[in-house]
This record gives sequence, C-alpha cells and structure tokens, in this order.
Amino acid sequence: MQAPTPHASSFYLSRRAAARTDRPRIDLLVPVYNEAEVISPFLEETRGVLDKLGLPYQYIFVDDGSRDATAETIAGELRNGLPGRLISLSRNFGKEAAMSAGLAHAEGDILVILDADLQDPPDLIPQMVEGWRSGYDVVYGVRVDRSSDTLVKRSTAGLFYRVFNRLANIDMPANAGDFRLLDRAVVNALLQLPERNRFMKGLFAWVGFPAMAVPYERPARRAGEGKWNYWKLWNFAIDGLTAFTTLPLRIWLYGGAVVAGLGFLYAIFLILRVMIHGIDVPGYASLMVAVLVFSGVQLLSIGMIGEYVARLFNEAKQRPLYLVQDVIHGETTLEKKEA
Ligand code: UDP
Ligand code: MG
Repeated sequence: MQAPTPHASSFYLSRRAAARTDRPRIDLLVPVYNEAEVISPFLEETRGVLDKLGLPYQYIFVDDGSRDATAETIAGELRNGLPGRLISLSRNFGKEAAMSAGLAHAEGDILVILDADLQDPPDLIPQMVEGWRSGYDVVYGVRVDRSSDTLVKRSTAGLFYRVFNRLANIDMPANAGDFRLLDRAVVNALLQLPERNRFMKGLFAWVGFPAMAVPYERPARRAGEGKWNYWKLWNFAIDGLTAFTTLPLRIWLYGGAVVAGLGFLYAIFLILRVMIHGIDVPGYASLMVAVLVFSGVQLLSIGMIGEYVARLFNEAKQRPLYLVQDVIHGETTLEKKEA
C-alpha cells in the first residue's frame, strides 16, 4: 500500500486537522462524456452516500461534448432539485480538460473527483472526508485489485508508473486514478498551473501537499462503454512523460556522444588501414552499416526533439484549455460559508 508522502509530517497534519471546519462543503466533480445510461444509477448511489454523510454538497457535472442524452438527463435532474450545475463544453476536449473546467467552477472546501460510470465507488467518500479531517489535503483512491483489467493492461500500466517515477523525479502513486478528494488549497494550486497539457495524475503529484491513499477495488463499468484504447493510452503516456521530464532529450546527448565516439574510433581504424594496406575499394558493408546506423540514430533523436517542439508549439499558442458553451444551474447550490 502506498505510504503517505514523506512530507506529511505529523506536525503539519495536526496543524491542518485543527484548522478544518466541522461542516466542509463538498463539490463533486464529474466529467461526463456520453454517459446518459449511467446518470441515474450514479445519482442514486452518490446521493445515498452523501445524504447519509450529512454535509452540504453539490454536483459539478462537466459535459465534455456528449452526443447522447447526457446533458438533457442532467439538466432534468437539476430542474428537479439536484444541487449543483452542469457546465457544457463546446465539444469533446478530453477528460483532462473537462476536469480542469470543473476545478475552475469549484466553490466548496473539498472537491471530490469521480467518474460517472461508478467505477469509483462513492461509498469511499466518507472515508476520504475522514482522511481530510485528519489533516490530509489529498486523499486518493488506490486500486488494490486490477483483476478487472487484462494482463497486458496491468503490466503496461505497471511499467509506465515505474518509468514515469524514475524519469520525472516526482512520486506519482501507482494504480491511483483521478478518483480523489482535494482540499481547497490543492484546487487553488492546480488552478495556478498554466500549462495546456493537463496530465492530471502528474499534476496532482507535482503540487505536493500531504496525501493519503485509500485502497479500493475497482468494479467494472456499470453501463456504456469505456473511451480508452491502447493507442490513446500510449499517446497519453507520451504526453505525461514529456510534460514532466526532459530526460529523453538528455538521453540523446549521451546516446549521440557514444555513437559519435564509436564512429570516430572506426574512422581512425579505417584511416590507419588505408595507410598500412593501401586503398581497397570494397567497403560496401561498412559503408551501409555506418549510413544506416547514423541516420537511424539521427532520425530518432530528431523525432524526440520534435515531440518537445510540438509541445512548445501547443503551449505557445496559449489557447484556452476548453470552451464553455453553456452553464445550467440547479435550484440549490452550496450553502454560503457564513450560513
Ligand atoms: N470522459 C470525459 N471525456 C472524455 C472521455 C471520458 O469526460 O473524452 C469521462 C467519462 O464520461 C467518465 C470518465 O471520464 O466519467 C472516465 O472515462 P472512462 O470510463 O471511459 O475511462 P476509464 O474508466 O476506462 O479510465
Ligand atoms: Mg470508467
């Protein structure tokens, strides 16, 4: 199990715990993309848990450009007294952007991010709030059992976390998704990050703050379809890595140095051979090997540089992360702090 991050010293924890309000207001951030089928079971389960918890709460749904009846369904619930709001993005921007939109609309003392498909069990929320009360600013769910995933998915995921943490030099907990509770302070910290590339798991880890893990078993999707495939995941992994480390660039510095060194030695060998034995024309094999190896290495390294240049380009454009086309408010919202 993931231990709390090292900087979660008991000194800070008790200071934070002492400063916690008794009745924190909870925002539930739910990015939704074509989830019409699961909205009502989702609401039923989360409302059951939250009503029992007895704290003021509201939903922040972010409709990430759904093409089905998702927005309609949620708007209907809001009209019928569901506390919260629906933020509709102008098209599908992806879950990372949708979460950023939700963060910007958060008002409460606590924000809980969870998927609409009930793969993030809502009954963990009370436990997360308890963690928050004891001083942790981030309480994240960690999957103890990934048996619902295929072997390939599990091993590639494991490899990704190992490579990422080694290269990026931050501690991104393995098997933790976006399912987590964030204190207001963390939400504010995330809102300060200006980058367009939102690899949220990495950003969550990057901002720091005392964090605690809550283990859970991830059930299968309740209904509807998952939106990920291996190609998307692979690109997601590259986005994550390039956003958090420039080590791949440095690898080429050393890789290039080694290859150039070997090339240099081989050149000396060739020159000496010509001087001793005279010119012998056959040399097709060595020529081809040198050309192929060097051009391969160069293409690879240029491609690697290109990955970073492309990201510079995207950041430099300064386009907004997402565009909101509509906000629908429910009748009730979070009670004001003074109330
Ligand atoms: N989602 C989104 N935008 C997207 C893809 C997904 O807002 O482009 C939402 C989706 O509606 C769900 C959550 O992100 O609430 C997780 O999506 P999914 O279940 O497809 O991912 P998985 O559980 O496979 O990680
Ligand atoms: Mg899911």
